[in-house]
Amino acid sequence: MTRIALYPGSFDPVTNGHLDILDQSLALADKVVVAIGIHPGKAPLFSFEERVKLIHQAAQGAFGSKEANRIEVISFSNLVVDIAADLGAAYLVRGLRDGTDLDYEMQMAGMNGTLGPRIKTVFLPASPSVRHITATLVRQIAKMGGDITAFVPPCVVSPLRERASA
Ligand code: ADP
Repeated sequence: MTRIALYPGSFDPVTNGHLDILDQSLALADKVVVAIGIHPGKAPLFSFEERVKLIHQAAQGAFGSKEANRIEVISFSNLVVDIAADLGAAYLVRGLRDGTDLDYEMQMAGMNGTLGPRIKTVFLPASPSVRHITATLVRQIAKMGGDITAFVPPCVVSPLRERASA
């Protein structure tokens, strides 16, 4: 049986924090489906297609082709539990950075557990070297001309600098 882990988020753009959780997810599941949430009315910095490309490039660079080939990227605008059911996903993966993440994620896990009892939420702790990274702050730093190289994979650096200065 193929064990599928669903990893939802914005990934606008993918950061070293996301890659850390992806790495841990690949150790848990046979296939990891990264699900990019599309919210009407919320304008992302990168389009869905750009985010997909950056996730694939980053995974390739960080884990090599064999592992990267176990990652699929999709979009979603409906309930996470519904796409999880459609995919037959066993796990819903969430990264935990701190107590604030935990409080929110416990609520989400409770609601999702009621809506879709078959999918199990799995919390993965952020590795110490990346636990401070948030895509929101990375975008802000880039917009102010700061050095973002410590926070994002190498393939994201130029696209992010260009987009942020546009
Ligand atoms: P962000 O919060 O950085 O904007 P997302 O909304 O795309 O990122 O988050 C998607 C998932 O990735 C969430 O489960 C979030 O907790 C996790 N995540 C994001 N950044 C990190 C990080 N630095 N370490 C661990 N998990 C992270």
